[in-house]
Amino acid sequence: MDISNVKFLSLDELKNALENIPFEAPLVIISQSAEKRWNLSDTLRKVTSSRPGARRVDDPRPNPTLRDIAGRLSTPLRPDGIVAIGGGSAIDLGKALNALRHLESPSAGDILQAMKARDYAKALPLIAVPSTSGTGSEVTGWATVWDDENHQKFSVDSPDLVPARAWIVPELTHGSPLRLTLATGLDAVSHASEAYWAMATDRLSQNLSLAALRLLTRYLPQALSDLSAPKPRHGLAEGSLLAGLSFSRTRTTACHSISYPLTSLFGLEHGFAAALTLGQVAEINSRHVDLTEFLEVFAPHGGVQAWLDRTSEPFLPLRLSSFGISGGDVDGVASKASTQGRMDNNPVALDLEAIRQILSNVL
Ligand SMILES: [Zn+2]
Repeated sequence: MDISNVKFLSLDELKNALENIPFEAPLVIISQSAEKRWNLSDTLRKVTSSRPGARRVDDPRPNPTLRDIAGRLSTPLRPDGIVAIGGGSAIDLGKALNALRHLESPSAGDILQAMKARDYAKALPLIAVPSTSGTGSEVTGWATVWDDENHQKFSVDSPDLVPARAWIVPELTHGSPLRLTLATGLDAVSHASEAYWAMATDRLSQNLSLAALRLLTRYLPQALSDLSAPKPRHGLAEGSLLAGLSFSRTRTTACHSISYPLTSLFGLEHGFAAALTLGQVAEINSRHVDLTEFLEVFAPHGGVQAWLDRTSEPFLPLRLSSFGISGGDVDGVASKASTQGRMDNNPVALDLEAIRQILSNVL
């Protein structure tokens, strides 16, 4: 991501920027409930009424699926730019439609085939406006698409899919519900942590990671204790962006790799699924690579696991049992936990037995 294209905006500045987007026929993705919550109806009306080619997707669903993408391409899309306002799922939907919009009335199978072959349309400029502080999707070039029938996770993934602009509007996160704030905040903590120790890391990525973690460890507990306080929300928005920038350079590692079957098999929110194993993986990695500066961020809180526990426990203990997962499920999760490009990006090789052990320790 070219960071000159990342801007922090107030809600009023966002409205003004939206009215002046440089597209004739934008595809605007924003849910009806989000439009109402942020009072954007007048703005969106102005955007579409002055641009006859504008189209709207007003029902983006959590975790876009193959069938979801196929359904949305059943009539041809001919935008000249995309605006995605919402959580990671809305932005991921924008990226997936950007990459696959050349397919005509595709089936779910056609979508999967194109993703596997990386058969993408020429990317259009996408403006990403995240409404949660966590996924980092506004600064990365990949998006997750789920196969809900076969419980698998796939991606579109190309440097061309990095949003042309990321507009960060902390006001959109004010008053976000507790569970969403916790899950997305933990996702950002996982991104920054995994960027720090990834095989693909470097000093710039590590410095971005440390800056992110200092903000996130401080402001996530504050945001959770007062959901409407603005200052912690701004801190989380900044921390989440820095985490996104750090892992956009490195990608993720073992924690995210293990998270995918937890989400596809048991429906865990992505952030919980990623953070569940963070303390365990940090502990294993710290025995083999130098994590001194990373651990120093968590030291005042008693360590990584202690911070995770103290932050999550009053609301939801960060354990598999909180999500109805028991010892009998461990083998099934472990057998699907090694995603290429994620697990092999962890600085310590984790075999099936090591993954089983990690999961058993967080039951
Ligand atoms: Zn994530």
